[in-house]
Amino acid sequence: MQRVPLVAGNWKMNTTVPEGLDKAAELVQAQRPEDVEVAVLPPFTHLWPMRDVLRGSGIALGAQDVFWEDAGAFTGEVSPAWLSGWCDHVLVGHSERRHLLGETDEQVHRKLARALTHRLRAIVAVGETLEERESGATLEVVHRQVDVAFAGIDAGAMARCVVAYEPVWAIGTGRTATPELAQEVCHAIRLRLARLFGDEVAGATRILYGGSVTAENAADLFAQADIDGGLVGGVSLKPAEFLQVVAAASGVRR
Ligand code: PEP
Repeated sequence: MQRVPLVAGNWKMNTTVPEGLDKAAELVQAQRPEDVEVAVLPPFTHLWPMRDVLRGSGIALGAQDVFWEDAGAFTGEVSPAWLSGWCDHVLVGHSERRHLLGETDEQVHRKLARALTHRLRAIVAVGETLEERESGATLEVVHRQVDVAFAGIDAGAMARCVVAYEPVWAIGTGRTATPELAQEVCHAIRLRLARLFGDEVAGATRILYGGSVTAENAADLFAQADIDGGLVGGVSLKPAEFLQVVAAASGVRR
């Protein structure tokens, strides 16, 4: 099975609704390579109107998070049932949620499992902190995050899952992992997926790199054998530069 590259833009808590719709319209109008999947993950408030802007464009829509229950007394949370059928992706396990809001590996797993029952596609973010890297714990941390997130997930549902390796020290810092270092961890993630689901599933699962991806460094990162595109934060708010990152993923189908 081939892995089609994916470049997803995580807008985080940025842009008003009108600003976001304008940015989405810019992406829709631009020329894009046909061999790269593109997804935009705006704030929750933008999702429903943005669906109309993106309709027919081939650009997928994604939410930045989702809750692990469908309904109930969970003030402020967003149900995967509400997104199902019109929103393509959900991101779970972003480091800002893990580290600023205390989200645990187990909660990430519950979110993933529930999103998959609603036929949503999931981007599961994993990655080590600077302290963990410097103490030599990178692979131990990433393996644990992968193991817990995907525990008990049906192999058939893996076709709707993407893993994003995002070293925490590289997110929003301008300090990108070298292509070699990013490849080393992405390769380790693929081996871990092979242990959990077998070689075929691991070989078909897309693994993205995220952490200060720019138009300048994207091509070198995406040229690595186990990096199938990027999860892009800051640069995804600048449509012209984001489109250059998308272009850098063209031709890397594996
Ligand atoms: C992110 O938020 O997932 C991210 C990778 O951010 P940035 O590209 O700004 O480092």
